[in-house]
Amino acid sequence: MSTIESVRGDITTQTTDAIVNAANSGLLGGGGVDGAIHAAAGPRLLEACRVVRRTTWPDGLPVGEAVATEAFGLPCRWVIHTVGPNRHRGQTDPALLASCFTRSLDVAVELGARSIAFPAISAGVYGWEPVDVARIAVQAVRSHPASGIDLVRFVLFGDNLYRVFESALEG
Ligand code: ADP
Repeated sequence: MSTIESVRGDITTQTTDAIVNAANSGLLGGGGVDGAIHAAAGPRLLEACRVVRRTTWPDGLPVGEAVATEAFGLPCRWVIHTVGPNRHRGQTDPALLASCFTRSLDVAVELGARSIAFPAISAGVYGWEPVDVARIAVQAVRSHPASGIDLVRFVLFGDNLYRVFESALEG
């Protein structure tokens, strides 16, 4: 049984084995948390993402899928990239968002990670309501077998998001 917690903070400083990036399908960087992770990891992360595009996912990473790279300049070991559903493009199915958390945990288990940090996937420019993201995230993590993972941490930028996740964890 993993500990599931939420903290206020910046995901790029987390020393969990893995951190999750709310990437876009192209995997070649973007704004928000994606931009912060690439800036902190350094240019080798972009190169590793280009390798993923040349090999495993030539047409881009599908919404709800996840793929790992090394973490380079970051203090964690791996970055697990996932693509959240974009409400502005009509991607409103909660199963797609749940899949981001589930598939990221699957990848973490395959890597042998013991701890993992998630941002509030799709709660930024992809336009999902924080309360929905928190509920879906907590439910997906709680229902995942996550064998070998001791700690799942939600790292939230800002007080409001943090409060919303805290109340989802209390429920
Ligand atoms: P998406 O495109 O999936 O909506 P965003 O990066 O726009 O992704 O936002 C996802 C969430 O990540 C937002 O709540 C945003 O405030 C938050 N965020 C942005 N930078 C960071 C960071 N360095 N650490 C943790 N969360 C962050």
